[in-house]
Amino acid sequence: MDEKFDCIIVGGGVAGLAAAMTLARKNLKFLLIEKGEFAGAKNVSGGVLWGEDLAKLVPDYWEEEDGGWERFINHRRLTFLDEGSSFSVDFKSQHFNETPYTGVVVLRSKFDRWLAGKVEEAIAESDYAMDSFVAPNILVEEILMEGDKAVGIRAGEEKFYADSVILAEGVNNLLTRQVGLQDSYVPADHMLTGVKEVIRFDQKVLEDRFQLNGLSGMSNEFVGYATRGIEGGGFLYTNRDTLSIGLVLGLKDLREKGSPDKKLTPYDILNDFKNHPAIADTIRGGEVVEYSAHIVSSGDKRVIPEKLYKAGLLVCGEAANLLMNAGKAIQGMDYAIRSGILAAENIVQAKEKNDFSEARMKAYQDELEKSYIMKDINNFQDAVHMLHDPLMYQKVPNLINHFGRQFFSISNRPTRKAREMMRESVKEHASWWELVKLGIKGARSL
Ligand SMILES: Cc1cc2nc3c(=O)[nH]c(=O)nc-3n(C[C@H](O)[C@H](O)[C@H](O)COP(=O)(O)OP(=O)(O)OC[C@H]3O[C@@H](n4cnc5c(N)ncnc54)[C@H](O)[C@@H]3O)c2cc1C
Repeated sequence: MDEKFDCIIVGGGVAGLAAAMTLARKNLKFLLIEKGEFAGAKNVSGGVLWGEDLAKLVPDYWEEEDGGWERFINHRRLTFLDEGSSFSVDFKSQHFNETPYTGVVVLRSKFDRWLAGKVEEAIAESDYAMDSFVAPNILVEEILMEGDKAVGIRAGEEKFYADSVILAEGVNNLLTRQVGLQDSYVPADHMLTGVKEVIRFDQKVLEDRFQLNGLSGMSNEFVGYATRGIEGGGFLYTNRDTLSIGLVLGLKDLREKGSPDKKLTPYDILNDFKNHPAIADTIRGGEVVEYSAHIVSSGDKRVIPEKLYKAGLLVCGEAANLLMNAGKAIQGMDYAIRSGILAAENIVQAKEKNDFSEARMKAYQDELEKSYIMKDINNFQDAVHMLHDPLMYQKVPNLINHFGRQFFSISNRPTRKAREMMRESVKEHASWWELVKLGIKGARSL
């Protein structure tokens, strides 16, 4: 093929679409290739898209009657579970009703498709209305290199050439490995598997049950018995007339503790989670309309490739393992959007100077380091590690619920002081020393 693009983007997830939108607005000629039937067809996410960066791509997106998003978050809850109880920290705020929202819940097959539509609109308004493309249903199998420089891609028998390639292929980053930027073996303790169901309700039932008003929504994260002793956590998010409910489970822990005869496969654990009294009551009467599973990065910095660039090539989004999960929220989609924008901006500058050398491409990683993404990843690594400590996802939730049961029980006997109850809970589930260590680690990491 003679035609040459300024850039080829591999992957039509949020990172790839953010890069494409940026290139279209800056009048570059690009080809975005997505292996799914449409953008979003293969994507899974809890998922709340946190922060304001969506408005960088689609300004005033909240004004669209039926945009790609489901609900905005104004109610957050973190719940600790043991076998039969739940103890929650609950926060709802009027301030979160204001735009730009602090987060919006999305269903990826709908959201990515909507965003791809917005990219198509931007292409139509660009100088390359007839020459830039979003091309679904094509699997990129190889990055074409000339020496150390990426010059295009191969899909089946077809070869497409470009000055630059942006890899936005997501966590299963086979091409990033192929060009040698990621080790071919990624340790299992750096990866989790996500399993998720979408459960449909009558919209009124859902809104009454979760105190939703208009398009307000709720996010609930779970720690403890949700994962039956496997590293990870649970989530529940309200969509317009459905709930997204699921778990993320450490692959290494699953392999070691979750053999089928122990009834600890991801699906068994999700079923148990749904049967927990704290959950069962909230999903009663709903109908499961979708089931999906996907790998997700742990957010451990050690799994981020040291270099995210080569001459003519940049890696962004979860292909670069950019993700944060320090207990408060999973942030992957916002990181994907911001890194996609930064990658595309770098390509625009490279094009202006006609310089796609490795030295020029490095500027992307420098920008990433200066952005909130790497600042947060660097600042909260200790919190990420702490969250993956069995003390956090086993003993602490048990201890908190043990204490809760004592504290909230009213018996017609003399009531003990709360500190005595706490002492008993600690004795039952952990040691003071473990808690002291946790407190020090917590103070340092948060
Ligand atoms: C269960 C679960 C819950 C999550 N919850 C949240 C959440 O609440 N909030 C949040 O921010 N993040 C969440 N995440 C993480 C988030 O989904 C990811 O970080 C985000 O999707 C990364 O975006 P991306 O564009 O980099 O990759 P992806 O969204 O994975 O997109 C990659 C795209 O590339 C395509 N592709 C891959 N290889 C090729 C190829 N060779 N040729 C052509 N196309 C290719 C894929 O089909 C896909 O469309 C969750 C993840 C999971 C699994």
